[in-house]
Amino acid sequence: MARSRTIIVAGAGIGGLTAALALIRAGFRVVVIEQAERLEETGAGIQLSPNATGILINLGAGEHLKRGAVAPEAIRVTRAASAREIVRIPLGREAELRYGAPYWVVHRADLQAGLIEALEGTSDFVLRLGSKVEDYAVHAHGITVMARAGAASIEEHGIALVGADGLWSTLRGKLGDRAPPQFRNRTAWRALVAADRIPPHARESATVLWLGRDAHLVHYPVKGGAMINLVAIVSDEQRVKGWSAAGRRADVVARFSTWHKDARALIAAPQTWQRWSLYDRPLPHPWGAGPVTLLGDAAHPMLPFLAQGGAMAIEDAAVLAACLARHSEDPPAGLRLYEGLRRRRTARAQGHARRNGRVYHFKAPAAFARDLALKAMGGNRLLRRYDWLYDWRP
Ligand SMILES: Cc1cc2nc3c(=O)[nH]c(=O)nc-3n(C[C@H](O)[C@H](O)[C@H](O)COP(=O)(O)OP(=O)(O)OC[C@H]3O[C@@H](n4cnc5c(N)ncnc54)[C@H](O)[C@@H]3O)c2cc1C
Repeated sequence: MARSRTIIVAGAGIGGLTAALALIRAGFRVVVIEQAERLEETGAGIQLSPNATGILINLGAGEHLKRGAVAPEAIRVTRAASAREIVRIPLGREAELRYGAPYWVVHRADLQAGLIEALEGTSDFVLRLGSKVEDYAVHAHGITVMARAGAASIEEHGIALVGADGLWSTLRGKLGDRAPPQFRNRTAWRALVAADRIPPHARESATVLWLGRDAHLVHYPVKGGAMINLVAIVSDEQRVKGWSAAGRRADVVARFSTWHKDARALIAAPQTWQRWSLYDRPLPHPWGAGPVTLLGDAAHPMLPFLAQGGAMAIEDAAVLAACLARHSEDPPAGLRLYEGLRRRRTARAQGHARRNGRVYHFKAPAAFARDLALKAMGGNRLLRRYDWLYDWRP
């Protein structure tokens, strides 16, 4: 009997869909099981650094993504009280030449659509929506995955199971790691607004980072510049129940009332906001066992202050596919190789994200020292400090 070449992926987020694409390109058949009834991404943007875009382009998703993506010219770091620029880190052509792939900002729905479009037309891709993975059983020929679809139970058989089921991963618990994600006393307020509804200064082709006391604000254009994505992060003791919730516009406006008028004008522009409590969680022990592994936020959720959670999931996908292709006769060996290759880098990204979260929210006098140090270093040297992150190939 021919050996199965089916890999089952739990979760159709950025990680699960990229894993499906990478695995299919490596010669596998992939069944993705997703609990949501429809594929619907959060109404928000995402920054995709060159370590991620290079992979997406190589997988054939670049053309689809290019349509809505913006390649910002720079990351501009600005003081919240005065709107004065602290430093300008060059991106655009300079980053593309340096890292061999562009730095893009995109709407999450465009990223998802790009991945789906790249997957369409291959008979090796099966998507089961409205089905929640509950358990699995390992046997001599591979693995059987059990999922619930409404009142019905379904089973899928394959040679390996990839848990790309996000921060609150069921499969991480099944592997024995039951410590819950940790709330990090930060809330992200997110909104999207039409570019013609905000002041012209905020429509530039840049990722702008405003630093204030106990809060920071990030904005960048998406949808080819037609919309602006806003993320306002505040120190917060209160967590939103569940994962995200509608936020009251008046609350976020009040929280930023002492900021420079340009920032306040931006915060006042959107009519609706979503609130996200921010969590992370140490790397799993074990990361996988037998024919089961974890990928993306299920394995290494991180705070968004390095803009790398999605990028790390995309990197995971590329490394996973290469390792499984190399050990196609022994999938567990491929999975252990993958886990070993990913541990150090993802832990490093998690640590940097946490540190940025502290540094961004400094109060005086530490904030003055931070700003002086950033200015003294200058944009080019700051960019080079991220070489370890952006200059990476699977
Ligand atoms: C405010 C904010 C800003 C961010 N900005 C950036 C950024 O600029 N750049 C960047 O790279 N990253 C960013 N991130 C991080 C990024 O969003 C995440 O790291 C990324 O979405 C993780 O993808 P994932 O596929 O691993 O998990 P998810 O996107 O959470 O996907 C998991 C999927 O699994 C499904 N699922 C869950 N349980 C089951 C089950 N039992 N059975 C079947 N399906 C299941 C879920 O429905 C979901 O579709 C940001 C995060 C936040 C909160």
